Amino acid sequence: MTKTLKKTKETASGRKPAAPARRRYAPGGFDVVVKRSSAGFGLFANEAIPKGACIIEYGGRVLEPGEEFTARSKYLFEVSSKKTIDGSPRWNVARYINHSCRPNSEAEIHRGRVFIFAKRTIKPGEELAYNYGKTYFDDYIKPHGCRCLKCTAQRAKVPAK
Ligand SMILES: [Zn+2]
Repeated sequence: MTKTLKKTKETASGRKPAAPARRRYAPGGFDVVVKRSSAGFGLFANEAIPKGACIIEYGGRVLEPGEEFTARSKYLFEVSSKKTIDGSPRWNVARYINHSCRPNSEAEIHRGRVFIFAKRTIKPGEELAYNYGKTYFDDYIKPHGCRCLKCTAQRAKVPAK
């Protein structure tokens, strides 16, 4: 693992996602909207999304071999050791999905493509979030403090003495 590769997101902290056989790897056409969130912009559900539904695909340009070492995109997604997607194209709305330490969604890789699934029932108006993985968290989120709902709430609970 090289240093540059560390900035890529990884699914489920490097665990192999156990995909149930019934998974449908096709986005369900849910109504989602980009809005301001606690961490800049975020992607929000505009309607209820059932648990287990495929919400959206994280798409983009597939990097050329070796390009992952030099690419400056903030939206690199390491699909496998041989494939990294640059999710910066404007049409890739999934790039607005923020990290959460207690996420309502999860990224799953299927045949070299990345799909975001609902981990639980998502209510209209809820911000979508998935866990970016430990490496990304330690390198890019931890240094300035995580702004996900869970961590923000936890900080608010700490008594000011
Ligand atoms: Zn957090």
